[in-house]
Amino acid sequence: MPRVMSWVESANRPEAEFPLNNLPCGVFSQGEGEPRCGMAIGDVVLDLAALEAEGLIALEGGPFLDVPFWNEVMEAGPAVWADLRAQVTALLAAGSTKRYLVEDHLHPRAGLRLHLPFLVAEYTDFYAGRNHAANVGTMFRGADNALPPNWLHMPIGYNGRASSVVVSGTEIRRPWGQVKGPGFDAPAFQPSRRFDIELELGCVIGQGSEGPVTVAEAEAMIFGYVLLNDWSARDIQAWEYQPLGPFQAKATATTISPWIVMAAALAPFRIPTPPREVPLLPYLAEPGPGNLDIALEVALTPAGGAEAVISRTHAGELYYSFAQQIAHHTTSGCAMTVGDLIGSGTISGAARDSRGSLLELSWGGAEPIALPGGGSRSFLEDDDTVTLRGHAQGDGYRIGFGDCSGRLRPALADPYAR
Ligand code: CA
Repeated sequence: MPRVMSWVESANRPEAEFPLNNLPCGVFSQGEGEPRCGMAIGDVVLDLAALEAEGLIALEGGPFLDVPFWNEVMEAGPAVWADLRAQVTALLAAGSTKRYLVEDHLHPRAGLRLHLPFLVAEYTDFYAGRNHAANVGTMFRGADNALPPNWLHMPIGYNGRASSVVVSGTEIRRPWGQVKGPGFDAPAFQPSRRFDIELELGCVIGQGSEGPVTVAEAEAMIFGYVLLNDWSARDIQAWEYQPLGPFQAKATATTISPWIVMAAALAPFRIPTPPREVPLLPYLAEPGPGNLDIALEVALTPAGGAEAVISRTHAGELYYSFAQQIAHHTTSGCAMTVGDLIGSGTISGAARDSRGSLLELSWGGAEPIALPGGGSRSFLEDDDTVTLRGHAQGDGYRIGFGDCSGRLRPALADPYAR
């Protein structure tokens, strides 16, 4: 897919996250104004609600962009998604005769507030990264039992809380919870001391389903992708997780990047999932390459300090594609809904500096990582800011996501001391 040039000059820089090939979907507001649907292009945001209201964009069955979320566009289906991309591409392409009509609807991104781009219907988090599953399993159960016996046969996950999902930039509050550390006779209720991040990709479901779907059908249901940070309280998790899995440890917050990168923008960057170590049952067979060629990184900024990249990894580490995850999710007859968010699970590479959580980077706190500006981390300290970034590299352009960032604020006073 060649780079498509735009008359928005900042979109044509090779390192720009939002070239005309990308056109990610967000919701923005200016000052006291109402939130509106827009697309990022270079350093500016295109007000799509205004373009639709003025008839510069017309979608079959619309209007869809007169609400501050993308669910109505998603619901309208893949033909409308493609038509919208084609119409916006024509308006912004170099040489467009409508430039003079569009220019007034571009706003500098730096001055805007970004909101959750869609109404999150439900949220499910998978565990599809092999290195992460093996690392955590080794720490919790020993190297001989690193992978659970089901892991190579199906993507496993848990039903999370849509209420936990927040947009990048939202401050995160260190939670209180029930913990019971090794060597303690009784559980205690206290602020989490092992608060962590998880580097994940998120997938946004744009078309619902009722019965079981195939992997190919699941692929067609995907509207787009975001970066996702599954904030995790490891001390709460370790005590609560058996036998029903994560619960309060994962319910504090889930941060997503503010722009949904549409599946069409990432279509040129599909790569195969890793070789199967055991054959999968036929219902999980893939019709084509299901993974995405996306470079990922985690940056940590201590309060008053300099940002340090603490991990670099790749979305190709996922053992199961999103389409496989979704297909498996529906096997029971579980319905999928427009606006469902699917988390991939933590993405870790094999090398130490490619691990996607502090739990793994510090090996459970046994090997704290040094920060280049001084100090070290096993888990997050108050006022640390964590930023996830990712991009697919094309020929002379890249498809970026925008920062997925959050600052951890100190715990409040005991919520039950009253
Ligand atoms: Ca997770």
